[in-house]
Amino acid sequence: MAAANWKMNLTIDKAQALINDILKEGILPGENGQVIFAVPFPYLMVAVDKLKNRKGYAIAAQNCSDKTSGAYTGETSVEMLRSILINYCVVGHSERREYFGETNGMLAEKIDLCLAQNIIPIFCCGEALDIRERDGQNDFVRKQIEDSLYHLSAEHLQQTIIAYEPIWAIGTGKTATTEQAQQMHYFIRSVLAGKWGENVAEKISILYGGSVKASNAKELFSCADVDGGLVGGASLVATEFVQIINALKH
Ligand code: PEP
Repeated sequence: MAAANWKMNLTIDKAQALINDILKEGILPGENGQVIFAVPFPYLMVAVDKLKNRKGYAIAAQNCSDKTSGAYTGETSVEMLRSILINYCVVGHSERREYFGETNGMLAEKIDLCLAQNIIPIFCCGEALDIRERDGQNDFVRKQIEDSLYHLSAEHLQQTIIAYEPIWAIGTGKTATTEQAQQMHYFIRSVLAGKWGENVAEKISILYGGSVKASNAKELFSCADVDGGLVGGASLVATEFVQIINALKH
């Protein structure tokens, strides 16, 4: 899976042109090749409409409320997303955790709301540089998974995608090495196996995010436990993102 995270970028004309440029390549994503665009809220309906007959392509929201409905000005509920045919939602991106105070507990709520509406959450986890420098990344990521996912049934976990995004690699141009990525993805899968069993853990897609680009995607995606990428900056450039889609394992 290649998931584009546009963040707060592009006006509608540029957004439409970007999707058009990618679609015109006519790539038919293979079994592991689902392509997702996480677009800003105002573009969701237009984007869903654009992709409606394109097998293998889907739209995600970048966030959702941890509340069901009601007096929460400016928020967007999961039910609203479902009502406009959204199938995926990014949950717990490090920018939301850092700038908007999202906690592991809030993210557990968001995940439950998504799963109750049949929306697949793309749950982001990953450590900051200081944690990596003191070799604390495994404990840190394990705790994020424990706090936000451990309450899920095996059935619900299997409808969840995990994105490992080391914060020090996001938007910095500094990518995790294939060894670092594979080690962490293997570790995450072993945490999942410890809780839900190996058969379940094997089925979970674990994406890598952090300065993925056309020039490093193939190498990162070749890691045994890396099932694709969550891509920020490079997903805003059609030629880059097309190469990233083509680098997916098929
Ligand atoms: C992201 O925003 O999820 C991300 C990984 O960004 P970038 O690819 O720009 O590092």
